[in-house]
Amino acid sequence: MKWKDKKLPILLGINIILLLINMMFTLETPVKESISAQVAGVTPAESESNVKKKIALTFDDGPHPEYTPMLLDGLKERNVSAAFFLMGKNAEKYPEIVERMYKEGHTIGNHSYSHVQLSEMEELEACKEMTKANEVIKNIIGKTPDYIRPPFGAWSHNLDCITNMIVVLWDVDPLDWKCQNTDLVVKRVVSNVEEDDIILLHDSYETTVEATFQIIDTLEKEGYEFVSLDEIILE
Ligand SMILES: [Zn+2]
Repeated sequence: MKWKDKKLPILLGINIILLLINMMFTLETPVKESISAQVAGVTPAESESNVKKKIALTFDDGPHPEYTPMLLDGLKERNVSAAFFLMGKNAEKYPEIVERMYKEGHTIGNHSYSHVQLSEMEELEACKEMTKANEVIKNIIGKTPDYIRPPFGAWSHNLDCITNMIVVLWDVDPLDWKCQNTDLVVKRVVSNVEEDDIILLHDSYETTVEATFQIIDTLEKEGYEFVSLDEIILE
């Protein structure tokens, strides 16, 4: 065999070795990336965008003596703040729970004193319902609420002139009070929620408390961040 003929297999051999080395490096790159992403605690898809989609949790009709503290425990564990639209007469019964909500950074809103349909009332009577709830709340936390959620979402524009509070309705309503079914509440919220949405729930049911924790854990993994009402409404 001539040198020229011997050289060809040698060159081929070198090429194959170079190709293998090259492949090793190419294969290594994504593995390295995913390891570094794991170290940082995020998946590669998440690390591309750190902008979280904001949403807010709101709870009406409380406080409830048993389920509200249970809810507050889980929110604290998860470092999530929410808004509570309180019925004045419930706040009056459980002031220590209201105080705890406020101290733990939650927003306290007005939900009338006795859960009345404000839009159907005489202005003066409607005003009394709202003012009475505000007085109860102010006596506990030292501050008048900035927000009101009218019971049943029933608001009339002629009431705007008698209150400075901002009326807050909602975007997602899983009817938790009606179904009282944890799985169904989770499913209804998770499949319908969008960025900047306000979620309506009620802290008077154990099923809702459990659903809330599952909703937070699921949606945080999907890139949502639970923020205060201020962040949704004022920004
Ligand atoms: Zn209500």
